[in-house]
Amino acid sequence: MKIRNKITLWITGAGLVAGLLFSVVISYEMIEQPFELLDSELDSQAHTLLAGLDPRDERTVAQSETTMLDSLGRLYWLKVYNGSQELIYSTAMTKYVDLLLKRNGKGYNISAVIPQGTAALEQDDSNEVTFRVRVFTIPFRGQNYLVQIARPMEKLQEEIIDLVISITVGLLLFTITLLLAGYFVAGKILAPIARINTLAKEINDNTLDKRIPLGSNQDELYTLSSSLNKMFDRLQFSFQHQKEFVANASHELKTPIAMQRLFFSEVMQRTDLPGDLTDRLATQSEVVLRMDRLVKNLLELSTLELKETFTPTQVDLAQMLSMILHQFEEIMQASGIQLKVEMEDSVFVHGDEDNLRRMFINLIDNGVKYNSGEKRKIRVSLVKKNKEAEITVYNTGIGIASEEQDRIFDQFYRVEKSRASTSGGTGLGLTIVKRIVELHHGRIEIESEFGSWVQFYIFLPVMES
Ligand code: ADP
Repeated sequence: MKIRNKITLWITGAGLVAGLLFSVVISYEMIEQPFELLDSELDSQAHTLLAGLDPRDERTVAQSETTMLDSLGRLYWLKVYNGSQELIYSTAMTKYVDLLLKRNGKGYNISAVIPQGTAALEQDDSNEVTFRVRVFTIPFRGQNYLVQIARPMEKLQEEIIDLVISITVGLLLFTITLLLAGYFVAGKILAPIARINTLAKEINDNTLDKRIPLGSNQDELYTLSSSLNKMFDRLQFSFQHQKEFVANASHELKTPIAMQRLFFSEVMQRTDLPGDLTDRLATQSEVVLRMDRLVKNLLELSTLELKETFTPTQVDLAQMLSMILHQFEEIMQASGIQLKVEMEDSVFVHGDEDNLRRMFINLIDNGVKYNSGEKRKIRVSLVKKNKEAEITVYNTGIGIASEEQDRIFDQFYRVEKSRASTSGGTGLGLTIVKRIVELHHGRIEIESEFGSWVQFYIFLPVMES
């Protein structure tokens, strides 16, 4: 699960627990408080009513008092018993409903069905009326009277249900709001991490000198960025060492290999050597030649990595390409390759001449090396498009399968070992090409119909005239 979703759930969970506790307290208060008020009202009414009844003796109640008190009978369900358990007074409401009363000092609820119109009460849809009841034993003028008093709550029960529904709906809306707010807040919290991630992703082996900018706020993200930067420092240091080692090693190997090549070419000039020795010398000479190519390519690549030989000037690509193609004319003719060139004049880029030349040579050389078929062709084009120079190099041949197309730029990657070994390749040519393109802030793309042709596209930013 994504951290953003986790944070959202945590925030929602915590908010919901707090909301639930709050609702429970509020509901308890809102439900209990009216009952408490009712209970104390029943308590005081019971005492007032008994005093108002003023029973003369145990059995009789003054007539005038009952008339006056009957008006109260419309509001209360009331029965008063004397010490001998005889009913000495009851209100009109007791005629409609008989409540099952408990001898209990505390208030409680009883529901009774009273058909509509029977009493002036507001029944609910099921004709049910809930009463709040209290039963007291009240001493009055030396006698103990049992007072049973109840008050219809009419719609109170429904209101409580409404309240519970409202609280539930409220909680639901609260949860949805929390989810949305939590998701938003989580996004805000994680935004700097996403920024650090994007910046860290931009740092690769070619841009190891880049660092994540540290903000002024010295928080946890500052620590994370600074730790990552320290890690990049260490990586850059070891990469640099590795590149320097490869550069130094290839440089050191160059002279002895050149000497060996010289030795082989001298020895092979001799005509007095036995035939089998000449064959073996030819094989060894080939090995030395490949070693020479490899070391040169390694040296080229490592100097490119170390950016030591990058001296940008204004380069006329059309002129450069024409010269290179001219050099290849002979070998193309010998290989039966037909060359077609379409070039716009004066396409200038700001770049390193030697490296750009190396890039074109590698591409065209591959176009010759890997060309095959009956009608062998190479097409080179140069056009200026949207502030970019687009160079294409097309050649017929076996092409490159789509699954190989990303990998051919990797170091030492060769599509088929057999194809590459006969061509004498090292698997570094296209790596060098790609690196040169990148150093010029350009891009390289490839298109191929496997078994038929391949075309490389290079896009380089042009110099504005
Ligand atoms: P190499 O030194 O082996 O030519 P590259 O890096 O130049 O190494 O090329 C990598 C692989 O890509 C080659 O081994 C070859 O199989 C394939 N390749 C490169 N260019 C072409 C091309 N123009 N046509 C067909 N295959 C090619």
